[in-house]
Amino acid sequence: MSRIVTRFAPSPTGILHLGSARTALFNWLYARHYGGQFLLRLEDTDQARSTQESADNILSNLKWLGLDWDGDVVIQSQRQKRHQDIAQQLLDMGKAYRCYCTPEELATMKEDALARGLHPIYDRRWRDRTDHPQGPFVIRLKAPLSGEIAFDDTVQGLVKVSAEHLDDMILLRSDGTPTYMLAVVVDDHDMGVTHIIRGDDHLTNGFRQLNVYHAMGWTAPSMSHIPLIHSDDGAKLSKRHGAIGIEQYRADGFLPEAICNGLLRLGWSHGNDEKIDQDQAIAWFDGTSLSKSAARFDQDKFLSLNGHYLRQRTLSDDGLESLWDDIIHEPLNAPAVPDMLSDAACCVGKSILPALALRATSLCSLRTQLMPYLTPCLENPPVLSGNDRHVVSELIVPLKDLSPWISESIEEFLRQWSNTHSLSFGSVAKPLRLVLTGQPISPSLTDIMVALGKETSLLRMQNSVNASPCS
Ligand code: GLU
Repeated sequence: MSRIVTRFAPSPTGILHLGSARTALFNWLYARHYGGQFLLRLEDTDQARSTQESADNILSNLKWLGLDWDGDVVIQSQRQKRHQDIAQQLLDMGKAYRCYCTPEELATMKEDALARGLHPIYDRRWRDRTDHPQGPFVIRLKAPLSGEIAFDDTVQGLVKVSAEHLDDMILLRSDGTPTYMLAVVVDDHDMGVTHIIRGDDHLTNGFRQLNVYHAMGWTAPSMSHIPLIHSDDGAKLSKRHGAIGIEQYRADGFLPEAICNGLLRLGWSHGNDEKIDQDQAIAWFDGTSLSKSAARFDQDKFLSLNGHYLRQRTLSDDGLESLWDDIIHEPLNAPAVPDMLSDAACCVGKSILPALALRATSLCSLRTQLMPYLTPCLENPPVLSGNDRHVVSELIVPLKDLSPWISESIEEFLRQWSNTHSLSFGSVAKPLRLVLTGQPISPSLTDIMVALGKETSLLRMQNSVNASPCS
């Protein structure tokens, strides 16, 4: 197979959302699978709607997702001269023509066609005229007048449309600017794009673009139009169905690897595999197994994948370090971490992280759970009721003498102490857990005590005892 070149070609008119991120991911995986190139082009021909802010959002979120592109970003508006040249070439070859219709004429044409029950398309009145009156004109493509425009879509199969349903579309507007339909073809051709994977909302554009390829005598790329993502209620995914911008997922504590895995499963499958990491995805994503039916977005699946990848990160030193980094530095919708963390706090935090991750589904909940471990004292030491205060208070002295301060000896001591005092282990563990973490639920009590260390554990116990009324 010749060198594979794919591209992602977003219009910088909004944020990177789930649907477009999936398009980018599929093109990226396809290129990486075959050792090809993945190119990025910003389609900013709609100057009125394109913004730098949107371009920045798209680029930074692609980077965050790990979807790196090859070479420089191509900016479509900077290629305007080339688009104009191609329009001129088509004119010169007799494959395009100047149309001098005024907007009023076009509006009347449309009304007439509709009144006669016809397809309201441009009636080609300038197609064969040779006169060139003064005044503004657009350049239109001479689309085929009969037959079918067809191509073999790798997802949809053979798709075709009757030529009479496609009008002679505009290539260059009267102000000399190219239309999207011209620019996209010229750019894909010049960038050497061999494969296009994109949403099936572009399927009809495919036919029109094919006409330009044919007119220029260029080879058209392979096309794969994937069904759009639907929500679990069957409607097209929209803001109504929750956060859809990648940035929002990031702020909500999702990991990029979870987003990519979740997106991968929306419209592509490998048997029943659900958890597919990046290496595996690259190895398996060969362009087959793209689904023809609409993918259904399932927020719970994304969350469970996120939990999985949070835990995966705790399995290696590097992973744990990167997880720590993300919890501390990511712009999360969660309480801010204290500015200057002491070495001791980092050490406590990192040692408790794997235990906290066992139950977490997002970086936000992990950060919230981690907070009590990052300072020696809890901001508000929990206030205990009579019995609980008594238990905690009585434990301070013997725990001070306990050595070594390891899980096994702490556990053995607490069990014995509960027995001696005719208390259940739970009734001892419960207030301890509360004064040590400020939370009723936490990882194993002894893991917490080891992570906090003896001094901090005793300090917290004492603070709560002091804060609680004697009964
Ligand atoms: N710029 C188009 C969009 O953002 C994509 C064009 C294409 O993939 O061919 O929808």
